[in-house]
Amino acid sequence: MRECFEVQDTDAGGRIGDLTVPRADVTVETPALLPVINPNLDTISPRRLADEFGAEILITNSYIIHGDDNLRERAREQGLHELLDFPGAIMTDSGSFQLSEYGEIDVTTEEILAFQREIGSDIATPVDIPTPPDVPRDRAAADLETTQERLAVAEDADTGEMLVSAPVQGSTYPELRERAGRHADETDLDVFPVGAVVPLMNDYRYDDMVDVVAAAKRGLGGDAPVHLFGAGHPMMFALAVAMGCDLFDSAAYALYARDDRYLTVRGTRALEDLEYFPCSCAVCTAHSPDELRALPDDERESELAAHNLHVTFAEIRRIKQAIRAGNLLELVEQRARAHPTMLDGYRTLLDHAAQLERSDPVSKGAFFYTSHESARRPEVVRHHQRLERLDVPDTLLLTVDRSAPDAEFDAAWRVEPPFGPFPRALSKSYPLTAEVPDRTDRAALEAAADGVARLVAANPEADVTLAHREWPADALERVPDDVELVDLTAERA
Ligand SMILES: [Zn+2]
Repeated sequence: MRECFEVQDTDAGGRIGDLTVPRADVTVETPALLPVINPNLDTISPRRLADEFGAEILITNSYIIHGDDNLRERAREQGLHELLDFPGAIMTDSGSFQLSEYGEIDVTTEEILAFQREIGSDIATPVDIPTPPDVPRDRAAADLETTQERLAVAEDADTGEMLVSAPVQGSTYPELRERAGRHADETDLDVFPVGAVVPLMNDYRYDDMVDVVAAAKRGLGGDAPVHLFGAGHPMMFALAVAMGCDLFDSAAYALYARDDRYLTVRGTRALEDLEYFPCSCAVCTAHSPDELRALPDDERESELAAHNLHVTFAEIRRIKQAIRAGNLLELVEQRARAHPTMLDGYRTLLDHAAQLERSDPVSKGAFFYTSHESARRPEVVRHHQRLERLDVPDTLLLTVDRSAPDAEFDAAWRVEPPFGPFPRALSKSYPLTAEVPDRTDRAALEAAADGVARLVAANPEADVTLAHREWPADALERVPDDVELVDLTAERA
């Protein structure tokens, strides 16, 4: 077990956890948002972040502080917590971002780690190499080797109580990301940022982002706290949490405010396009869009940043509540409807349903079938796995009707889309208590047919009959040939 992180509750790949930050003497509940503080620009003061928004942790850049004579000396004298006036935990970045933007920086990992410790950082970061997407594999592998050397330096450094992060790189190569995750997990470092995903998000490549995170997660252990580095738009938090990300940092709230952009969980809006505010935060209830537009630039920026933070923190709370209630994937489905690329992200997440299934609770409140993507959820994958372990009698009727067992058969089992068949004894257990629409869709029927096929494949000696009601040919084609088919609609007619 990793001492600094304890998982309290899970749903799909998402979890509520406690990140213990010993140097700050703070326990941060995850999923958590780390607002990014630029030490030179105070859009919203760190004190206000703590008092008004409930921020337990923030992130600032030690490289910027190190490179500014005035800030550096003040940070050395007062320490970061006093410099920023923030009572929670403070994570520091190392200049890796500047390295990726400008090609070089003038500190080594040893120097910047020592500096982060000196100024009182609670979670430090070594200088890793953020490899952009789509570079040649050789370069991604070579960069990764350098990152791994830096992690070894960080392991050897005298860092005391300070936690140290171990970034996971590997560009858009899943096998490199997985290997990087495994290597990072084997170090004695503490927090695991998945790095260099910002270009993917800037290009709306949520499908590739999901693949990258899924690969990193396969390498990392289940007890590793995972930070999605640079991901600050609330629209994608639910998706990322469902993949198993625990920490997010947001510079977006301030950067977007500077450009008069208004964050929502369904995407970004230009302030000039808004006639009404779809939000009930303090900013949006006190101002109309017209009034906000009429404010002087700096006031407007500050008000917009406050709204952006409110909506961002609210989404984190909504996600935590969804994990507690066991309906995180229903929330992801809602968010996926905001943009076609988010839907691609969700569909890609479902490609990893078997991976998510491992941390998905066996029982939750209720399974709501709210889109045809629901047919691919981890609960369906698990039920299909379970079908292989059930005892099957010699002759078995599988029926979509709730009618009593037919005397011709040793037993009759219900068939419920999208899960497929199950014995009566399981009918009251999760997820078979699912709420599904009366107007079943093809994806649900096909998944149910796949369940029948799984059951038959595991029990080739059984004599199985499937009584369905007008199942389409696409679904019936998935049922093995030796299953006898009866269409109940035709029978009744
Ligand atoms: Zn608002």
